[in-house]
Amino acid sequence: MKIHEYQGKELFAKAGVPIPRGIVARTPEEAAAAVTTLGTPVTVVKSQIHAGGRGKGTFKEHPQQRGVVLVKSADEARENAARMLGSTLVTKQTGEEGKKVSTLFVEQGLKIAKELYLGIVIDRETGTPVIIASSEGGTEIEEVAEHTPEKIFREHYDPCLGLMPFQARKIAYALGLDANAVNSAQSFLPKVAKFFVDSDCSMAEINPLIVTEEGQMLALDAKVTFDENALFRHKDLLSYRDLNEEEPTEVQAQTAGLSYVKLDGNIGCLVNGAGLAMSTMDLIKIHGGEPANFLDVGGGANVEQVKEAFRIILADKNVKAVLVNIFGGIMKCDIIVEALLAAYDSVGFHVPLVVRLEGTNVEKARKMLAESGRNIISANDLTDAAKKVVGTLKK
Ligand code: ADP
Ligand code: MG
Repeated sequence: MKIHEYQGKELFAKAGVPIPRGIVARTPEEAAAAVTTLGTPVTVVKSQIHAGGRGKGTFKEHPQQRGVVLVKSADEARENAARMLGSTLVTKQTGEEGKKVSTLFVEQGLKIAKELYLGIVIDRETGTPVIIASSEGGTEIEEVAEHTPEKIFREHYDPCLGLMPFQARKIAYALGLDANAVNSAQSFLPKVAKFFVDSDCSMAEINPLIVTEEGQMLALDAKVTFDENALFRHKDLLSYRDLNEEEPTEVQAQTAGLSYVKLDGNIGCLVNGAGLAMSTMDLIKIHGGEPANFLDVGGGANVEQVKEAFRIILADKNVKAVLVNIFGGIMKCDIIVEALLAAYDSVGFHVPLVVRLEGTNVEKARKMLAESGRNIISANDLTDAAKKVVGTLKK
């Protein structure tokens, strides 16, 4: 689960990680008032979306407007906010469709002496968190990794012990910090490391992590992602979820108990079992097609779930054909066909449907399909199914 920058900073503050002063604004008036309240010579107005690259991103409606701007007065904040709110921000990370901005974070402008990079992720090989740090902050870390990989440092730490003082110093020296900043790092880094473990993050990225002219470290940006499998023990974090930032069909699928991931292709897939779903997508690709989604209805799907699955697949305008691939193990094939036909009638199919069934009661099920009178193409095996569904697109 991703959260917004201002929410990440709220959590940082609770964990004792220094952040600039900031105020959330949802109208141009609120943005102007925030500038007055903060009372700093320079203020920064920042678009809140679940994607980075905002500083360089621009709005579809206002190509000159950036996603993060420095302002010097309340009026200037109001004018910028009016262009930003309700508009669509396109950055390197949003894709060309962009993301609509409905919240701004107005923050005190700080004098930056140094922009560093700090990230924490889980290293699957060692099974521990790893801190990734670089003296080249502010810019995209991918660029640093590609052109100057020697400027990226990694330090693994024990999740139970936390980041040890000598490790914090090691990172600080590697970043080339002076004495004041090393002191600040010794307090800053272990706190972020502890926050990462305590909150079951899958990623925490601070880019830039800044050092002020006084040698103080502050998190100027906060990109935090939580491991969804651990959210059950962080009920307090659930309120941070912003459904507007998530793919609506994925939210709908989650509610119905389906595993669904939207993809860019045009062949919708309805499959039971994640492994079968993966191989179905592979086969579609091998035969020259592109899957529009991953969808696993699970082992014991009922009629309602199958209907919902069809609704979700067909709501995607890119879908030009659908492939149903079911292995009737726990669920018998004839029961599945019953659900399929009921769903077919209630959802209203407008694209070709190819069905491949295998397993218990498959003969009975195929007969039901053949006699159903619906426009359904039956396939004998996986390859046949993939070929047939790709074939429907060529007609
Ligand atoms: P993004 O990573 O999405 O582009 P950031 O929060 O990193 O957004 O902001 C982009 C840039 O804006 C930063 O690299 C920094 O140079 C500047 N910036 C952001 N917040 C502040 C602030 N409070 N004071 C001064 N400069 C800031
Ligand atoms: Mg950033």
